[in-house]
Amino acid sequence: MQKIELFYPLLATPQKVVITMHQKPDGDAMGSTLGLYHFLKALNHTVTVISPTNWADFLDWMPEVDQVVNFEMNKEKSLKILGEATVLFCLDFNIFHRTKHLAVHLAECKAIKVLIDHHQQPDTESFDFGVSDTSKSSTCEMIFDLIKGAGYESLINQDIASCLYAGVMTDTGSFRFPSTTASVHYMIARLKETGFQHADVHNHIYDNFLENRLRFIGFALMNRMEVLYEFNVALMYITRQDLQKYSIKTGDSEGLVNYLLTIKGIKFGAIVIDRDEERKWSFRSKGGFDVNQFARNHFEGGGHANASGGRSSKSIEQTVLDFKEVIKTYKNQLQ
Ligand code: 5GP
Ligand code: MN
Repeated sequence: MQKIELFYPLLATPQKVVITMHQKPDGDAMGSTLGLYHFLKALNHTVTVISPTNWADFLDWMPEVDQVVNFEMNKEKSLKILGEATVLFCLDFNIFHRTKHLAVHLAECKAIKVLIDHHQQPDTESFDFGVSDTSKSSTCEMIFDLIKGAGYESLINQDIASCLYAGVMTDTGSFRFPSTTASVHYMIARLKETGFQHADVHNHIYDNFLENRLRFIGFALMNRMEVLYEFNVALMYITRQDLQKYSIKTGDSEGLVNYLLTIKGIKFGAIVIDRDEERKWSFRSKGGFDVNQFARNHFEGGGHANASGGRSSKSIEQTVLDFKEVIKTYKNQLQ
């Protein structure tokens, strides 16, 4: 993979661009792809965002989100666009299998492949150009760096600003995680100069749920949480019946894991949700406990040092038992 600066000259000639992100895109994945989309359109490129799967309703306010192609719903159209692309941007993931069924088609794609991502252990072999930086708060911050670095800062408009703000906000826990550097605050100041309304972004993302979701959270905290004080770990599991009973949709369970870390002394929060195809784990930690490594070692996953995810193909009961067994070996690290 060559460094991203060597790709910048290609921005000056019209390209057929596809931008994609990890499956079940979150605020940073959708914000960075749409932020880049608006920037590349301003530069007169032909641009399509292809999402590997559907996404949460709380992202549906983003400018031109209705133009995003859901691969699972539009396979033929997606493959046609991908086949004609001259440049393929991969944002907020760094190995093709994070795009589920889209992965084989990305690997086969003949376009110039560009990686922009902040997760650990990138598969750099698969990309022609790119930047992989785990010290970055978010992929949205890296899109801002690209726009600025390539000399197009004057093109930043309100659409770009609101998309990028959304991703930095969600990936930094509203500007509280240690990844929120001075450069992040400078960037936000620059975005604010476009006049976009940051309070609207907070409202769209955090204050736009249905009643059932709040009642579901109450139910889960009351009935599905276990605190293992011996290990400074809090654990939560959600069954398929729970999801059905409260009509939980994609995105409704996001953020639930963060409640676990609000308990005094708890350093590691883990939640497992019984989705149709798999049991999906989310891990969060405070301080030195590396949940990226934990997810890689035990649950076929990865991510960041303090936020990661994984999966299990076993039953929900069994994967919870597996977790409780494996956590014993980390007792010293979690003291
Ligand atoms: P979440 O718990 O919100 O699904 O994921 C937390 C972080 O870990 C996100 O940055 C996400 O991209 C990453 N992540 C989640 N699941 C996986 C996984 O299975 N593999 C890898 N490499 N990263 C993951
Ligand atoms: Mn991210």
